Amino acid sequence: MSKFMSERFSKLIAYVPGEQPRDFSYIKLNTNESPYPPAPAVFEALNAGEIANLRLYSDPECGELKRTLADYLGVGSENTFVGNGSDEILSFAFMAFCDKNIPVSYPDISYGFYSVYADLYGIEKNEIPLREDFSIAPEDYFDLGTTIFIANPNAPTGLCLSAGEIEDIVKANPDNVVVIDEAYVDFGGESCVQLTKKYDNLLVIQTYSKSRSFAGGRLGFAVGCKPLIGDLEKLRYSTNPFNVDRLALAAGVAAINNQSYYDNNIFKIIHNREYTTSELRELGFEVLDSKANFLFASTAKLSGAELYAGLRERGILVRYFNRPRIDRFVRITIGTREQMDALISAVKEMLNNA
Ligand code: PMP
Repeated sequence: MSKFMSERFSKLIAYVPGEQPRDFSYIKLNTNESPYPPAPAVFEALNAGEIANLRLYSDPECGELKRTLADYLGVGSENTFVGNGSDEILSFAFMAFCDKNIPVSYPDISYGFYSVYADLYGIEKNEIPLREDFSIAPEDYFDLGTTIFIANPNAPTGLCLSAGEIEDIVKANPDNVVVIDEAYVDFGGESCVQLTKKYDNLLVIQTYSKSRSFAGGRLGFAVGCKPLIGDLEKLRYSTNPFNVDRLALAAGVAAINNQSYYDNNIFKIIHNREYTTSELRELGFEVLDSKANFLFASTAKLSGAELYAGLRERGILVRYFNRPRIDRFVRITIGTREQMDALISAVKEMLNNA
């Protein structure tokens, strides 16, 4: 750290993203990307004409993409917000709806960025323990008097609350914003987007990174009542009005218009998830019931660190969290059937050597 860094950030510990090796020979099951390319319509949209247009700024209102998303989701354009990945939208939501007088609550085991944003913005953290079985107890989130962030499905567990359970939480906190991070909802969760029409304190955030094969394109969106969206827009225009570039805007529209392609990929990923779950359970693994594009799995025979290292030696990257309660687990992204078979063979070999 230089001597010039503001003291505000002297103790800040930055988020550490999953490894992105330049060596493409790994089977990459560590950051929940899609194994499939973006839709054919996205390839067509990112054409020479769009590249030539890069000399012009992008539309700061993101008008066409907002209209496309609004039609697709059955909400109004004014109820949508577009960001440079959902991480950016989460950042705006922490900035907008929390401060030194409004703490934030979220599950103690969840997306690691929540605690980093809280520290970045100087927000008091109320980390609520998951139940012993790693599920979220909805009643722990009633009448909190804080802003609430919940990933649904949760990460890295993959476990889900129903829309009804989320609605109970939203109803029980009428004076605070509840943010539902639906990064993984397309893989079998129940979306709360429609509930945003009924509650003025609910913001739902989704991403193109997972089900729409666009992690490297950086595009996310949020849905909420007009005043909540207005708050986020105020911060976006005060930070970077051109936060979504032209190529991402064009790809974002094309992707929604080619949704059947993604639906087919989602179908395959769910199928591979169920297949991998039963194969691993057959090998004695504990595998949580995931509704996401990843599994959270452990075995009594090897620690999480050993699983991670052994798979890496065999050319397969997974995610390991060196934290109490979850250090016996690894998080495995669901890839193609061939990739999952390679994972299962590697695991078998490791178990035989254990
Ligand atoms: N929320 C959750 C729960 C995630 O796991 C991720 C991916 N790391 C994100 C949000 C951020 O995704 P992105 O910024 O790529 O949209």
